[in-house]
Amino acid sequence: MTHNDITANVTPQELTEILQTLVRAPSINPPGDTRECADRMVALFQKEGIPAEKVPASDKLINVVATLKGRGPGKTMWYNGHMDVVPAGADWKWDPWGAELVDGRIYGRGTSDDKGGLTAMMGSMFALKRAGCPFDGEILFTAVADEETGSDAGTVWLIENRKFSADYAIVGEPTRDNVEIGNRGTLWVEVTVKGRASHAGRPHFGVNAVHNAAQAIVALTKLEFPNRDERFEVPNGSVSVTMIEGGTKINTLADRCVLSIDLRMMPSDDPQEAIEKIRRTVAAALDEGADFEMKVLKVWPPVMEDPEHPLVRTVAKAYEEVHGQPPKIRAKAGGTDASFIKAMAGTPIVLFGPGASDRVHVANEYLLVDELVDACRVYTLATLELLG
Ligand SMILES: [Zn+2]
Repeated sequence: MTHNDITANVTPQELTEILQTLVRAPSINPPGDTRECADRMVALFQKEGIPAEKVPASDKLINVVATLKGRGPGKTMWYNGHMDVVPAGADWKWDPWGAELVDGRIYGRGTSDDKGGLTAMMGSMFALKRAGCPFDGEILFTAVADEETGSDAGTVWLIENRKFSADYAIVGEPTRDNVEIGNRGTLWVEVTVKGRASHAGRPHFGVNAVHNAAQAIVALTKLEFPNRDERFEVPNGSVSVTMIEGGTKINTLADRCVLSIDLRMMPSDDPQEAIEKIRRTVAAALDEGADFEMKVLKVWPPVMEDPEHPLVRTVAKAYEEVHGQPPKIRAKAGGTDASFIKAMAGTPIVLFGPGASDRVHVANEYLLVDELVDACRVYTLATLELLG
């Protein structure tokens, strides 16, 4: 049986139907409720004779884990993607939960991010199962319930509670014509600027937390990010103050102002140093009498795989086989579960999946059936090569 026969074991129509089945089970995060989607996914695996289980991180946040064993002992390939999706939002021309097929496109929330990747991975496992599992070792499949709000009930939970790790991991985020070797790191910090309230008619008796927070924001926007890597969609670090809340009344000087800060890091940036950089910048920007507290809410470490790693080279080769031209080797601007798989589970990573990042989290999200089929073939070819 040739590679082509194996990848042809799953039809475009079958892949389309799997994706439609998953999209029609909305799994919106927040609040996150993947029960229906997980049920449907497990049923699809079971119908195929592939062992799959639901692994709850909470009542409603249900992860799915499936394994496909090969002929004998060998290495483990980890397929990872996320079931949770962001809310649909407004301005849709199509029903965001309808998964309607129109001119070769499937429309709906999650088609590109990330149920398309999951569907292609399931299709790859089905194709290999139908071919008699002609590989050594096993495929570990995880469809996680929580990626969009921080992964604590998803990939992080599975790594901490199930001790998952593998020889190779493919994270199925949409990458279009790229094979991606990493993503920037993310740091979420909350800074509470503290002042002293007073009547706004006698401002010299108080310390205005809102004014001080404004000074801190201006200072943060001037931060420099000298480390660059042109392979990244955004080739340097960046910082954004994304939320602000302060004050109690229009004629009272604010005694508190809370800033939410999102800072992005390159692989050569150190998260601890980034935290200190924010601390120093805010401290230097405040007036005498003002003070602040800082809380680190979440850190996604930056991640970058060696482009010469066999995993990256093999996925790129499989891409070329399917598409007739080599992919671009790039890296993502936003955070993904690759951060945790590499940093916490010590597993080499590559990001590859159907769809495009400019179609995610927007109205009329869609996926081309062709992209779904191609990704399924790339996963299958790469796995046969690495575990063959
Ligand atoms: Zn995603």
